[in-house]
Amino acid sequence: IYTHKKIMLDKTDLSPLISTSSTSLFTLADLQHAIESHYLIIFYQPQIELRSGKVVGFEALVRLQHPERGMIFPDQFIGLAEQNNLISSITNEVIDLVITDYGLFCEKGIEPNISINISAQDLLDLSLPEQLSTRLANVGIPTGAITFELTESAVLTSISDSLDIMNRLRMKGFALSIDDFGTGHSSLVQLYQAPFTELKIDRSFVMKMLDDDEAMSIVKVCIYLAKELKMETVAEGVETEEIWNKLKELGCDIAQGFYRAKPMSLKACCDWLTTEFNIKS
Ligand code: C2E
Ligand code: MG
Ligand code: MG
Ligand code: MG
Repeated sequence: IYTHKKIMLDKTDLSPLISTSSTSLFTLADLQHAIESHYLIIFYQPQIELRSGKVVGFEALVRLQHPERGMIFPDQFIGLAEQNNLISSITNEVIDLVITDYGLFCEKGIEPNISINISAQDLLDLSLPEQLSTRLANVGIPTGAITFELTESAVLTSISDSLDIMNRLRMKGFALSIDDFGTGHSSLVQLYQAPFTELKIDRSFVMKMLDDDEAMSIVKVCIYLAKELKMETVAEGVETEEIWNKLKELGCDIAQGFYRAKPMSLKACCDWLTTEFNIKS
């Protein structure tokens, strides 16, 4: 009875079920075909410095634009890709797309920071830091313009290898962000061991912070912790003006969320910049 109860209560036991059901309509063959056919596209979500109100960067969020099935969100295929060694093809494609788009942002007169999400498996390839910095140098993009976002669980999978690669990425000048902070395991160990430059407070805390004292305390502690460790703080999931103002008052550095902007296509992003900030089009 005890074992049974434990299984019922352990949330992690539900995740294989959830991922199977959400990906079942999209098979591995479908995904392979989609990657080869260049159906992947990037939406960009602005990241705004709370103190100055300036757009300091964008998070690159992948989608799959399928000619028959329409837009497919990352929750539907990243897990599938991770389970089948396809993540590196996605990461490569995402980097290619970001490199192309970076030039277009520069034409608008902004040299943004772009945050790219990577998975645990990306941190198994020792040649990644060198390869990436060469690729960027060839097109004149400074490595400092790129932040890699990693979830706590990504780092956990193979801590010593991933630490090695993270250190090499830092040495090349890339920034590193710990994503969805507070929702993984052993967060403090990872902050202690890994060379993160940015802490992204998970949206589950940010969204509840004004209605729930405990969520508020966690947000405050995250901001304090990041400051002590000389990291920048980003709050994700900022949906209201009230939350925006509170985060600003608390000294959070950057906000990202629907209150200011949803993830947008490059075209929509450029239009948004033009109307919000009068940036030349
Ligand atoms: P994430 O990195 O935590 O990205 C933030 C997610 O929150 C995005 O969902 C974004 O659309 C959503 N979001 C942003 N602002 C708000 C808000 O104010 N309210 C709410 N409710 N949600 C908001 P999306 O684009 O569906 O991405 C989901 C996850 O997929 C990402 O979570 C990231 O872990 C993963 N992902 C996205 N692109 C890539 C990629 O290129 N490679 C890899 N490996 N993973 C990716
Ligand atoms: Mg992210
Ligand atoms: Mg999150
Ligand atoms: Mg996140």
